[in-house]
Formats: sequence, structure tokens, C-alpha cells
Amino acid sequence: MADCRPADPEATDSRTSSPLAGKKRAQQSPVPRSKYQIPAPGGHCLRKVTLTKPTFCHSCSDFIWGLVGFLCEVCNFMCHEKCLKTMRSVCSCMTPSLVRVPVSHCFGPAGQKKRFCCVCRKQTEGSTALRCEVCELHVHADCALFSCADCRSSQADGTLQQDTFHHHWREGNLSSAARCDVCRRSCGSSDVMTGTRCEWCGITTHVACYLSVPAECTLGRLRCMLLPPACVRLDSRNFRKLHLHRITESPEQDTSDDLDPSAAASKEAPPAAAETGKQVIKVCDGDDAVKRGFFRLVSISRATRNEEVVEAALRSFFLPGDPQDFELQEVGTVQRLHSDDILNRNGGPANQTPPKERGPDNRTPPREMGPDNRTPPREGDAWLLRLRPRDPEVIKVFAGWNRSFASVSVSKDSTAETVLSEVLRLLDRKDEDVSSFSLMEVYMSSKQVQRQTLSPQENILEKLQEIRKVSLRQMNQTRFLVVANRKGGVQVSLLIGGLDPLLSREEYEALIQEQLTAKSHLVSLSHFYSSQGAVALQISCFSEAERIYLLARDTSVNNKSLTSLVIPEILLNRLSPDICPLLVFVNPRSGGLKGRDLLYSFRKLLNPHQVFDISNGGPLAGLHTFREVPRFRVLVCGGDGTTGWVLGVLEAVRHKLVCREPPIGIVPLGTGNDLARVLRWGPGYSGEDPAHILISVDEAEEVQMDRWTILLDAQDVSEDANGFLDPPKIVQMNNYFGLGIDAELSLDFHQAREDEPDKFTSRFHNKRVYVKAGLQKISCSRSLHKELTLQVDAQDIPLPNIEGLIFLNIPSWGSGADLWGSEVDSRHRKPRIDDGLLEVVGVTGVVHMGQVQSGLRSGIRIAQGYYIRLTVSKPIPVQVDGEPWIQPPGHIIISAAGPKVRMLRNSKQKQKKSSASKDGRSESPSSRGAGH
Ligand SMILES: [Zn+2]
Ligand SMILES: [Zn+2]
Ligand SMILES: [Zn+2]
Ligand SMILES: [Zn+2]
Ligand SMILES: [Zn+2]
Ligand SMILES: [Zn+2]
Repeated sequence: MADCRPADPEATDSRTSSPLAGKKRAQQSPVPRSKYQIPAPGGHCLRKVTLTKPTFCHSCSDFIWGLVGFLCEVCNFMCHEKCLKTMRSVCSCMTPSLVRVPVSHCFGPAGQKKRFCCVCRKQTEGSTALRCEVCELHVHADCALFSCADCRSSQADGTLQQDTFHHHWREGNLSSAARCDVCRRSCGSSDVMTGTRCEWCGITTHVACYLSVPAECTLGRLRCMLLPPACVRLDSRNFRKLHLHRITESPEQDTSDDLDPSAAASKEAPPAAAETGKQVIKVCDGDDAVKRGFFRLVSISRATRNEEVVEAALRSFFLPGDPQDFELQEVGTVQRLHSDDILNRNGGPANQTPPKERGPDNRTPPREMGPDNRTPPREGDAWLLRLRPRDPEVIKVFAGWNRSFASVSVSKDSTAETVLSEVLRLLDRKDEDVSSFSLMEVYMSSKQVQRQTLSPQENILEKLQEIRKVSLRQMNQTRFLVVANRKGGVQVSLLIGGLDPLLSREEYEALIQEQLTAKSHLVSLSHFYSSQGAVALQISCFSEAERIYLLARDTSVNNKSLTSLVIPEILLNRLSPDICPLLVFVNPRSGGLKGRDLLYSFRKLLNPHQVFDISNGGPLAGLHTFREVPRFRVLVCGGDGTTGWVLGVLEAVRHKLVCREPPIGIVPLGTGNDLARVLRWGPGYSGEDPAHILISVDEAEEVQMDRWTILLDAQDVSEDANGFLDPPKIVQMNNYFGLGIDAELSLDFHQAREDEPDKFTSRFHNKRVYVKAGLQKISCSRSLHKELTLQVDAQDIPLPNIEGLIFLNIPSWGSGADLWGSEVDSRHRKPRIDDGLLEVVGVTGVVHMGQVQSGLRSGIRIAQGYYIRLTVSKPIPVQVDGEPWIQPPGHIIISAAGPKVRMLRNSKQKQKKSSASKDGRSESPSSRGAGH
């Protein structure tokens, strides 16, 4: 649901009226839509119905006792008789006029959870349902066209300058535990679509109560970490929203930007045969629908008056208006492209008529069916719904600066220019120069918002008639907007990755020139990250930016495909100093589907521009976006490998950041997670409320942590090239470094994972495989101590009889085991993660390792030190932070890696297993309603 408030109450005066007032006027037209209908606010067509099964009220969420309810024939809204007085819910046919800032949705396949469609208010079923990946709007696939572009506006809209940030209300799909912020009674339900919630601050209220909430949204509990939309600037023209939000397109995602006949056609199977006395006709809403074979099936009783047929047709397209103003014209055969069986089942006389004898293209005068025409429609015929031409007509023109609107009369002589000056006069800006404003036509389709500036001479009445002829749905989703002409040029920033690392600025410039044929007067290289093989381009022309963006994605350099991302600009002067935005990285491939769910939840809870899918562009995309933010924190959702990846990239690019040491928190996904355990983020994610996770991050304390560099100087790699496969020469270590049996187990496990990646979706399954791989090793025996010499802080250390040697930075190893042990001994200091020392521990074999894992024993303490030298005489398996390989003979040196890093440690004691985790639906009423 859109914001149903008067767009800007202060601006509302006698000449400019609020959308609600406009709606009431529509309802108070002298002739009600039909004689059954009860005039109702919100544009609903309510009818008194007898209830045959238990029903809940969509307005107050209570049970409807008794047999009488009021049902909207357009959107299926249902309420008590007593609730008619307080009803504030807005009908689906009216929502386009209430959008504050039109922003399209990014539809993807919905989950399996029970949700309600925002268009028809009925429950969605898994396979045919869609949900927006930014705001979690739920719709049926065939309802998507009729939803409007009311997604969250996560960046500053170029036209709207406002000081107050308004709530963005969205109706329905609240948790059943939700309470009304106004009357404190329960306002959520899992049985019907009821209640409303602000998409930013998360407060929930009854639809009848929300007008009592102060207009300004304070962004709620998460304000301190939320990147405010007003601070984000993103210039775009034809970039799809998926690209602007860096959302990876799933294969099943619909790539067309508009009508998709197969998805859009009516899902209601023709009940023709089943219901006696009923017949089904096909209705198109304009020439575009006829061309595409897109129609809605409208079921009517045979004896229906034509006015009621027109009314039913309007309802099926979710169109407001008086049936008197519309008419139906016969168009003959509509070729339905995707489902011939419906045509056949539904076959009527029109189907046997060759299309060329009829239809809009061959000048056969169409048979008209208006409210006064008594010719009943024949079954199977296709009809075209048209608005009867009027002259003059009244259109609403919205003001770009505050979203008030003026109603302007348009006659056949009206041009964009005359409309513009009339609107400025009505909006009290008559002293201003008309030429510094433009009239814009905005098509607010749910999948793409199209803005077009009208030239001053454009004839408005013709324009209106043209849009209506194409599609009445499109007309309902189109608005006219007055905007002040913008100063300042276009700036689009792209981050191009996948280039060769370690080149100079000139070499990168030449590479971009050569590979992407960039026009040098439009494109400049603003930043380059040679360690990452990435450059940032600043482009002062939309079409050049779009061209480079797409071309880069199709280009490979040295067999590596390039990546390209659109980077938003963060306006620092609008970022309040008390806000410390959270930069979130999620690895959607970690922890099965949990990573993906967290990605959606964080996009919804925070600003999607601060949430990065790490599989799309890596950590650099986020760090580059935040490069000038004076203070921020980082949250990494993934396994130890993902955390190591972020720490590594941060280390490499920190000298280019204003905030060089952002503290880092972790949501552990996948197996292992030793670092997350040490920092008290737990062993893994088990469905906690994502809003609670963010609050824990806000309350977390900062701690320092050592990091280590391992130099691997292999001799004679050529000796046995088969086993080695290019071992790394320098690696960063955060957790531990293991040699011998410990690494061998992770190597086996790693290979199994590479072979069958699909099998490793559950954390617990992963673990079982790990143990099994270990058992197979029991029979093997080896003496690692004979193949190694160890020097700690320049002292030779004799090794006992061991099969594995491990260097620990943190007191957790192999999924939470305490290898060093808690015992106090006089020779060693108590281990800390920030003491600049590594603990050196040995294990005698797999049995010993198993005992350590189960807490029966600890490892053999060998030494503590800050500078380690190892000499290896045979190829041995090694692992760093769980990432294994075979290391050829040679020298290994471990030393501190630059400054310590700042990490976030959860300051709460580990919460008791919340019942919340069962289905992820429970939450406290005051929480932000993640996942709903
Ligand atoms: Zn009620
Ligand atoms: Zn309705
Ligand atoms: Zn629906
Ligand atoms: Zn959305
Ligand atoms: Zn709010
Ligand atoms: Zn209430």
C-alpha cells in the first residue's frame, strides 16, 4: 500500500487537494457504480455479503461474528459493518494515485511461506508467486502488472526535496504477534491481509489507526546504522533496478520489462461449464493487449445488464472510475499465444471467424456495448474496454517538490506549456518562470518506472488519448508531474573488476580504452585498486555509461571475464555525524539458503545500497562505495573464508579509505566459524530474527585482533608438479595455520566439497562428512616431527612425536575445540587474540584430535612466539583458516601482518535458543518485522 496520507498536509488548500479528497470525489459521483454498491472511502466497491465460513476483518483484524460482512468486488477487501466508518484501507485500483515517489520493484520467485497478494488480497501459492527482493512485496504472477511502483525509495529522488522523511506504509503480511502502535491491540494476522507497517522504522498499526501516527518517520531502532536514503545519489536512465541494487538475476527471473502474456493472463480458469447461468468473455484493456493476446476473463451472468458487464471488466483490470464513462467494443478473435486450450474450451463464434474480417485494423465498424446499449455480449467474444472520449477533461498534475497536486482542465488546445503555467498558478508559484520547470509523464509500472519530459508544444489531450488507446491499465499507472529543471550534469560511477592486478594507472587507462573503447571526453578513471585489478570510472553521459556497463560484462581479458557494477554516491554533507552506517556483506552461497534469506532481510531492514552480495563484485564494491564515509562498521555474513576475504581486501585497500579501520562483526554461516565463536557470534546462524542481529551489532564492543602473514618459499616446485598445483607464496592468516594430519583432513573434505558442491547445503551434513573423512585416516601413521624443523623467536624448538602441528591465533580450532586448553602453566602466557603471540600446539594423531574435539584432552603445548621459521623436507598438507593445499618442501615464515584489526565482539551473553528459530516468523512486536 502506498502512503495514503494527503501527500503534504501543509500544502493542501482549497485549490490543491489531497489524493484522499480526490478519491472521495470520485466516489461521490452522482451515479454509484452499481445499485448494490455502497460508497466507501479508499475507492473500494463494497457489497454486503452473507458469510458462509469463518472470516476476519481486514480493517480491525478481529473475527467477524455473525453472517454479515462487506466485501470489495475489486480487491477482495472484507470488513465488519461497524468498521466501514473507520476504514482507511485503499483499494488496489486507487493505489497508483497515492504513490509518493514512484520506484519499481525487483520481482523474484517468492519463498514457500504463506503470504497475501497486495493486489487481490488472496493468499499466494509458492510456485506462481513473486516477491520484491528489496521490499518483500508479495504478488501473484498475474497480479504483478496491477501492483504499482511503490517500492522503498532508497536513494534521493532528484525531484523531491523534503526535510521530513515520511513513513512508507505497506499493508498486510505482518507477524501475527504484531501490536498496534496507536491502540496497543493486536494488529497482525496470518489469516488475512490486515494491519500496516512502515517499511523504514517498522512500526505496525491497524489500517484504521495509522493516521494518528506523527507523519515523520524517525527510522526506528536501526537509525544509527542505517544509510539514510537522502544521503544516496544514483543517476540512472535505463539501468534496470536490479542492476542499481546489484541484484544477481536468477534464471527464472522474468527479464521482460513489461507485459508478459503467459504470466499476466487471467489465472481464473473459465468457469463457463461449471456454473449455470454464467458466461465468460475475454476483455482487453487497449490496443497493446489486443496485439499481445493479453486478456482477462470476465465471468458474468447471462442476464446481466451491459453496464454491469462494463463494471465487471473494470474490476478485472483493477481500474477505478464510473462504468458510464466506459464502453466495450467487440474486437473479434484475440490470439492467445500461450494457452490454446483455454481458447478451445472457451470456443465461441468469434473464434471461428477469421481475424482479418474483424478487429481494429480492418475498419469494420466495431460493435459497441456501452451502459445504454442493450446488446448482450456473446460468449467467447473478445471485447475491448475503452474510455469514452471527453473534452475537456480534468487531469491531476503532481508537484515534484512536495507531492501535492492540482487538478487542471485539459481541452484540445492545451499544451504542456499551458498546463504547466496553470499548475504553477494553482500551486502558488505563479511568479516563477515557466521555462525553469518541465512537465513530465511518469509511467509507474511495477517493474519499471519510465519518466519522459514532455516538450512545451506537446498536445496533452492527444497524449492522454494515445496512452488510453494503448492500455487503460497504463493510463491508471501514469501520472503527470511538474519538476524544476535540474542543474548539474550526469555522473554515473561504474566499478570495473576482473582486470589484471598490479598495473599502473596509465596501463589501466589504456586497457579500458582498448577493451571498452571508452570515449575519453565522457569517461574518466577516478580510482584504481591495483591489488584488486579494479578501476572506478566516472561517466558523464547515460548512454555511454549503459554501453560500458553492458560491454564490460561481455568482455574477457586474459581469459578472465570483467565485472561491472553501478556504484551509488554517498552524499557526506547529508550524513548526520551521529550515524555510523553499517556496511553489510552477505555470501549467499554460505550456509545453504540461509545466506540468501539474510541478504533479503538486510536489504529490507536497512537501505539496500548498504547491503552487498559478496558473490557479485567481492568486498571491494562495498568498500569503494564507503570510501569517503568518515565512520562506519562492517558486518560479514558467511563462513570463516568469507570473513578472511573481507579482511584481506580491507587490508589491501585501507589506505584509500577515510575510515581505515572499520570494526568488523560476523554472522556465521556454514561450518567451522571459529572466529565467530571467539567473538561470541555463535557457531552458526539458526534463524534468529535479523533485526535482533543488527541490534546486537549495534551494541557490540570493539576488540583488537592480531593478523599474521605466512611466507611460503617452496624449493623445487618442479620436482613433483602433480601434487602441488601452484602453491601460494604469501597468505594472510586470521585463525590458525595447520600442518600434517589436521590439514590432511580438511584437504579430503575440501576435495569432497569441490566434487559435489550440491551435497553441502546443511551445516550439519558438512560436519558429518568431516568426521567420516577423519576416520578413514586412522590406519595411516606418519612422523611429522621428522620432516620439520621449528624455530620460534630465533630459538630452535625440539618437536615431540606428533602427526600435526598447529599455530593458533584464536582460542578456537576445528569448529570450536580448545586446542591450547585452559590450564594455567608457568612457562606460557594466557593466550589472547591481541597479544602479538601465536600459540604452537601439536597433536599425536586422529585419535588425539578426536579427543580434543570432544573436550577430553588438549593438544601438546610446544611454544608461544611472534616470529616463526619452519623448514619442511617433504611435501605435506597444510591449511590456513580451513583452506587446505599441499605445500612442497622449503621454508615457511610467519610474522605479524601490519596493524591489528578491529573486530566486533557480541557483548550479550549467548542468548538462549529462542523459540523464534522454528520458522523464523516470531518476533517482538516492536521489532522491525523482518521477513514479513
Ligand atoms: Zn472490523
Ligand atoms: Zn477494494
Ligand atoms: Zn493476487
Ligand atoms: Zn519492492
Ligand atoms: Zn516509519
Ligand atoms: Zn490500532
